[in-house]
Amino acid sequence: MKIAIMGAMPEEIAPILEELGTYKTTKYADNDYYEATYHGLDVVVAYSKIGKVFSTLTASTMIQHFNCDRLLFSGVAGGINPSLKIGDLIVATKLSQHDLDITAFGHPMGFVPGGSVFVEADKDLISLSKEVAKELGKTVSEGVIATGDQFVHDEKVKKNIVKHFNADALEMEGASVAVVCKSLDIPFFILRAISDTADTDASFSFDEFMESSAIISAEFIMKMVKKLAK
Ligand code: SAH
Repeated sequence: MKIAIMGAMPEEIAPILEELGTYKTTKYADNDYYEATYHGLDVVVAYSKIGKVFSTLTASTMIQHFNCDRLLFSGVAGGINPSLKIGDLIVATKLSQHDLDITAFGHPMGFVPGGSVFVEADKDLISLSKEVAKELGKTVSEGVIATGDQFVHDEKVKKNIVKHFNADALEMEGASVAVVCKSLDIPFFILRAISDTADTDASFSFDEFMESSAIISAEFIMKMVKKLAK
């Protein structure tokens, strides 16, 4: 087993690299990839840069170039479900691209021919996350994550995303990573800690809580990796 551990921003993988201690850095496709062994398990870590295109490239590279056969994403998200507070963890059960719109042709939002509105995350990895949550005595929500190439900071946009996808949280990379993993038949898991609630104050909240939430997510992901190593 070789695990890809991905984030979008440097802050999202910094706690992971710190936990690994030593690693080998390889440059590929204009990005840095960090290879290491963690409790006997081979891992490759990278941050993609923000958005669907960069995250697609990185997920695909980790699988096709570095031969990873599982992918775990750790990062932050805007909360939509009012039960989600800053720092809370949410596991994606399924993901959708909220900005994929060919509704002019009668298709539902998030759909293109040959694709599907939602991509489901791996059930075994979700079960593993439940075991980890139980062991840590931590509450981890599960729900729908909507992804698009925009930082959402507007109630109206949020409401529209709920209307079409019934999403619980939103971010900018999860669904594109999901599409890559599904197409290449690689089990994947997307975890996010809430950094803001995607409203008018979102950018301020993000700046204040992004780093602490990124740590919460990264620590949980590394507990999962440790369990996978057993
Ligand atoms: N502050 C950064 C930009 C952050 S973009 C800069 O100036 O460079 C937001 C990042 O966090 C994305 O990677 C996205 O996945 C996640 N995210 C957190 N809150 C979000 C929100 N309200 N809308 C969209 N993405 C959000």
